[in-house]
Amino acid sequence: MQTPARMLVRWPNWLGDALMARPFLRGLRAACGSSRIMAIAPEGFLALLAGDGVYDETVTLRDRALDARVRAFRAEVAFVLPPSFSSAWFALRHGIPRRIGFRGDARDLLLTEAVARPARGDLHLSREYLLLGRGFGVREPAFRPLRLTVGAAGAHAVRDALAGALVLAPGAAYGPAKRWPAQRYIALGRKGREQGWPVVVCGAAEDREVADGVAAAIGDGAQSLAGRTSLLDVAAALSGVRAVVSNDSGFAHLAAAAGAPTVAIFGSTSSAWTAPLGAARILQHPPVCSPCFHRRCAIGTVCLQAVAVDEVWAAVGDCVQRYARISRETR
Ligand code: SF4
Repeated sequence: MQTPARMLVRWPNWLGDALMARPFLRGLRAACGSSRIMAIAPEGFLALLAGDGVYDETVTLRDRALDARVRAFRAEVAFVLPPSFSSAWFALRHGIPRRIGFRGDARDLLLTEAVARPARGDLHLSREYLLLGRGFGVREPAFRPLRLTVGAAGAHAVRDALAGALVLAPGAAYGPAKRWPAQRYIALGRKGREQGWPVVVCGAAEDREVADGVAAAIGDGAQSLAGRTSLLDVAAALSGVRAVVSNDSGFAHLAAAAGAPTVAIFGSTSSAWTAPLGAARILQHPPVCSPCFHRRCAIGTVCLQAVAVDEVWAAVGDCVQRYARISRETR
């Protein structure tokens, strides 16, 4: 097979999915080293993966010159990672002759290669993405943490705030069926404070209300940075934290990818399908209704209520001890 001169990769829209696409992106670069690769993605994601060297050109979804730049690039192949109709239509509309994406109802007609997916959870999502590159010899690379650098003065302030901290991430944009109760995050943060650890509550702008409330309730030694930092600044600081406790959200994926000891609490979704790649300990007690993939639960999120504070605290302690031992051994 002749390697195409120019390839376009439309990245996923969700942070967690974009990080689970890393093996595909890195594998594609390794398999097609002579190809020029254009990445199309939400703005904040591109800088996170800059250290992976998985693209030569980038264009963000909000770029006013998006259409013109994609046309001028003249890609021979488009990998369409999101499962939406619009993303497949985008590739067709820009005249890209070979369009590869997941099968899914009406979009099949827009793709030249509509790849079947296994049932949800039979294969980790990162391996589903790898299926798209099968025809190009894409193989799964070994995991490696994100390569990130701290640049601006603001980034140093974030790094200082997170150094040695217990980081809590009580948000989840997906919905309440993924959010472990805020009261339990507060109880966990208080346990961290009893150890003398700083506690930092993180999240996106939409998590600010819950994050600020959790930090205020924990009290002295706790602060909320939710919505006040850039994704890149937080990511670059995560390798210096004591541990992260997060809902199944983009933040859990970011923390694990950055090399932070991460405890990820799963509710309505499937950890077999979307567990974070990297250093993550998964806590999930699936009842008979799990996984339902609902955003809201009609029966009181039994799945999340089953995860006790003491259990999470024990997982944090275990992660901290293991990391200390690994750091000693690899010094
Ligand atoms: S239906 Fe079951 S798995 Fe789904 S959110 Fe509710 S308790 Fe959790």
